[in-house]
Amino acid sequence: MFEIITKSPDETAAIGEKMGRFFSKGIVICLYGDLGAGKTLFTQNLAKGLDIDEDVTSPTFNIMNVYEGRLTLYHFDLYRLEQEYELEDIGFYDYVDDPDGIVVIEWADKFADCLPDDFVLLAIERTDDDDNERRLIFDLHGEAYANILREVEDLCQF
Ligand code: ADP
Ligand code: MG
Repeated sequence: MFEIITKSPDETAAIGEKMGRFFSKGIVICLYGDLGAGKTLFTQNLAKGLDIDEDVTSPTFNIMNVYEGRLTLYHFDLYRLEQEYELEDIGFYDYVDDPDGIVVIEWADKFADCLPDDFVLLAIERTDDDDNERRLIFDLHGEAYANILREVEDLCQF
């Protein structure tokens, strides 16, 4: 686990973009954090790093959006999803269990029991100090991405 503080939206954006440039196929990133934490902002910039030209918006109403870039991005937002069984209905497990691109899941903590064995966890929190400051906490679930976390830590050094 490691954490870093960003002092502006741009700093969070820069980390997202670098991760998008660096990632290879088959990674699930679970984003935890309150409304307005910066999950969508992070995802938009990850998409930029994946050379996705399309505007990435929060898929709040259709739960998942798919974008084609250097790799395919599957962007879930589970905020409005109410029942666990609905995950099956939207094909969630088909995407997350053997991802053929990059999967990003906003509000993943709402359905913690339904997440795959291996994922990169990114929790974004406000701090008490400044409205434009966020704490980004990176952690791993499972062993599959152990090296990735170390490499992400290197990317995060400004
Ligand atoms: P979420 O998807 O988590 O609900 P959004 O990404 O939609 O949140 O919104 C995050 C908001 O917080 C944006 O308006 C962004 O400009 C603002 N913000 C302020 N400081 C930061 C920061 N350090 N990192 C990320 N976002 C920040
Ligand atoms: Mg969002």
